[in-house]
Amino acid sequence: MSEKPEIVLQGTGVSSGTAFGQVLKIDSRNRVIFKIEVEDVEAESRRFMEAIETSKHQVENLKSKLEEKVGGDHGVILDMHFLILDDRVFHNEILDSIRRSRVNAEWALAQSRDHYVEAYKSLEDEYFRDRYSDIEHVTERILMNLSGEQPFSLSNLPDDVVLAARDFNPSGFAVMDLGKVRGLVTESGGRATHTAILSRGLRIPSVMGIKNLMALVSSGDSVMLYGDTGQVVLNPAQNRIENELQKPAENMPEIGPRRRARLRTKDGVPVSLCANIEFEYEIGAAKTNGAEGVGLYRSELLYFRHPDGKPSMEDQLAAYRKLAEAMKPNPVSIRTLDVGAEKSLPSEKPDQCANPNMGLRGIRRSLQALDTFQTQIEAVLRAACFGRIEMMLPMVTTIEEIRDVRAIIDETHRRLASSGIDVPRVPLGVMLEVPAAVLMMESLATEIDFFSVGTNDLIQYLMAVDRGNDQVAYLYQPLHPCVLRYLAQIAETAAGVKKSLRICGEISANPFYAALLLGMGFSQLSMNSLSIPLIRRVIGAISLNDAQKIARKALTLTTAKDVYEYLTPAVTRAVSIDVDLGSWAAEINPGMNVSSM
Ligand code: PEP
Ligand code: MG
Repeated sequence: MSEKPEIVLQGTGVSSGTAFGQVLKIDSRNRVIFKIEVEDVEAESRRFMEAIETSKHQVENLKSKLEEKVGGDHGVILDMHFLILDDRVFHNEILDSIRRSRVNAEWALAQSRDHYVEAYKSLEDEYFRDRYSDIEHVTERILMNLSGEQPFSLSNLPDDVVLAARDFNPSGFAVMDLGKVRGLVTESGGRATHTAILSRGLRIPSVMGIKNLMALVSSGDSVMLYGDTGQVVLNPAQNRIENELQKPAENMPEIGPRRRARLRTKDGVPVSLCANIEFEYEIGAAKTNGAEGVGLYRSELLYFRHPDGKPSMEDQLAAYRKLAEAMKPNPVSIRTLDVGAEKSLPSEKPDQCANPNMGLRGIRRSLQALDTFQTQIEAVLRAACFGRIEMMLPMVTTIEEIRDVRAIIDETHRRLASSGIDVPRVPLGVMLEVPAAVLMMESLATEIDFFSVGTNDLIQYLMAVDRGNDQVAYLYQPLHPCVLRYLAQIAETAAGVKKSLRICGEISANPFYAALLLGMGFSQLSMNSLSIPLIRRVIGAISLNDAQKIARKALTLTTAKDVYEYLTPAVTRAVSIDVDLGSWAAEINPGMNVSSM
């Protein structure tokens, strides 16, 4: 029996399952970086580039170890580290600072790191915001190599450990004995970090975002961790341990890719699942997981990688071409630059106006920064020579916006043709994120080729709830009947005007919501690629008829709680697969104040 009292801590569950073990604290080095004036700036620059090369070799090694160990495409997660290490703009920024300010490489690197980390952390979008951890992990590796230290060894772990860290570098998974790791708990990070993505892939129960964790735990403490609810119990009482250990071991289902046949519902209706991606390197995982195309490529990431926020036409063409070629013959929908509000470019200050979410965002902004927009349109059109490219516009409110974009596209076609460059016509779609656009769907349909519903934003504008404001997070209710009715109306209108309709908001990655969407008339869903195998199983196990019955009933209910209480058992019964859907039910439980969808 534990002598010490139980301490219950609350964080965010990012990988489901319950774990019990002994804490192993992984202290991040308390590195102090001094500013030192250097005489020989060329030697200092060489020292920096050597550290980059060493880091690249280490990451390559770790990547193949990770792939050997866990198979599949999990190693692609480290491609992000490689991409940062290989980024000339990043090198040049640091080399410039070494030469201009005559400072040591460590100082120049730390300055750049702080600048990027601050920019990423200020982003509203959870996925983008969490990318700051990749930058921290990569710079930590370079700093380690600059100082000649050896990488921290995780290869010799004791049995049954729960790793506790301020921030855990995903490359650590490559070098440790996974059989000994019961769980992971960290101070920082969230569901969308690569560490979280990998822990889900490796099925290591994990909780992130526990404030002051490192001050509260010591190596050797016993700990019970609940990856579904985000609870972490230090010094768990004996009866809690006994209760948990007596529960039958969770029968973790195999939800690997099944790509051979076209996905159909149980009664034979075809459904297509595409991937939402932010980085070109994700395309491999998207294909492995069975994506039939890229339904949303968030192009702003390409802009974020350039300190001045302006990738050239050639840079963009190279990225879009890579996607088009890799996905061929399936389509890639490139969403034009969606910045504004909290998603500001690294070269700009975040929008300080009173209602940034209602301000100069998405297409509104592109139409006011015409040079940048024309460059992007040219790159998108030219990439269409190499595969099936589509263009998708964010935050559309009026028909005039579409017409203005069309005029720029036509003008670009003419300009390219006059220089002897013939590019194909590219399907043009609008994202349905603003209620005004939804109400104008029939008119918009005459001007565009497809609709794609962006529920992450649509819910915020429909419910008048800022997607990032904790105080009103309880009102961000994807299951609210008004959201359901709105989505059903969208499906009906799109069918009436015979326009292709997709949905690329986060909700499509939730099995309960996916079944509901199917029943409401959506047959093209786009989601993070890791969710595709599970959603394939769910859709393949339900009949359209059952999904429609569930949707009809859900649409008669009047609160999100009523919908939740009806939907979760109804879908579980209708799909009857050997997968415990508990954590996905928790994700949409309106009582849990889910705000990140
Ligand atoms: C959305 O709003 O649903 C969407 C897919 O776009 P983002 O999350 O990038 O705003
Ligand atoms: Mg959006």
